[in-house]
Amino acid sequence: MTAGLYAARARLNTRLMEKISPGGQVLTTDWVDNYPGFPEGVSGFELVDRMRKQAERFGLEIVRGEVTRLSREDDWILVHMTESTLRTRAVIVATGTIPVKLGIPGEIEYTGKGVSYCATCDGPFYRGVEVAVVGGGDTAVEEALYLTRFASKVHLFHRRDQLRATGILREAVTTHPKIQIHWSTVLTEIHADDRKLVRGVTHLDLKTGQTGQLPVEGVFLFVGQTPTTSFLQGFLELAPGGYVDTDLEMATVQPGVWAAGDVRSKVLRQIVTAAGDGATAAFNAEKYIETRFGYSHAPKTTGAPAGVAS
Ligand code: NAP
Repeated sequence: MTAGLYAARARLNTRLMEKISPGGQVLTTDWVDNYPGFPEGVSGFELVDRMRKQAERFGLEIVRGEVTRLSREDDWILVHMTESTLRTRAVIVATGTIPVKLGIPGEIEYTGKGVSYCATCDGPFYRGVEVAVVGGGDTAVEEALYLTRFASKVHLFHRRDQLRATGILREAVTTHPKIQIHWSTVLTEIHADDRKLVRGVTHLDLKTGQTGQLPVEGVFLFVGQTPTTSFLQGFLELAPGGYVDTDLEMATVQPGVWAAGDVRSKVLRQIVTAAGDGATAAFNAEKYIETRFGYSHAPKTTGAPAGVAS
């Protein structure tokens, strides 16, 4: 969204290609407490809405559709979508990440029937019942805390005896009266009833080797993220884990292609760092178009659009 804002404000003819809805994971985040300028915090939905309105005020055009592949044609980059192809001078890849699957029996079968990757989306369905959360990172802990609004009890399963999540979240989760942390414990199976609705989990204590069962009705999995880069295969060499390597200017090894946000190889994946990446990428894309092709401020219908894939 920030790349789109900066590119549109630089008067580049800019399109943001979006598969579902602009905002990505922020949209499914209940509350954002660490984005500057919001002293009381802000809901993920509101932050996205404000970003979209701000970018659209400068003329950012948001196009619905899925980018399936990129290719080159001389100095042009072709952005192949399911139903059309866009020819552009510059592309900023800002496709983020999606949740990793845990890979245990019951996970795929019961997704949407008790297994979820989004507490903000599904939490209200679990009023007054017990739920399980898996993971020890920021996402798992934030979502476990959110689920305490609805569930009678939240069981947090973490495979180690130390949380990866940041200090303030660790404090909140370890002292919350509705949350029970099962240290060094993993889930091995998710069970359902005849209607295929989740009714329990089997867990394994990695230190003692003991197994047990719990009668939960919701299982929320937050065991990490994987980058959305399959559409780049064959076009851009990817780093281990599928992330996109860039230099400090957000440039990839492909001329005319930048990357911004969680999809990049980087240490800190936050909304504020993604926004910084997006601004840097758009600034450099503008300079590239200006110096290499001798034009900017392209007229909307005939100029060379800069694409932001989100
Ligand atoms: P993450 O930091 O990679 O944490 C994934 C968690 O899942 C880890 O605790 C990991 O255990 C556990 N895990 C991984 N594979 C597992 C398996 N097979 N079985 C059981 N547990 C497994 O992922 P994330 O929490 O989604 O966060 C992603 C990025 O977004 C991070 O950079 C995070 O800081 C950022 N983020 C920030 C905020 C915020 O600032 N408010 C909110 C959400 C996310 P180990 O600890 O043992 O590896």
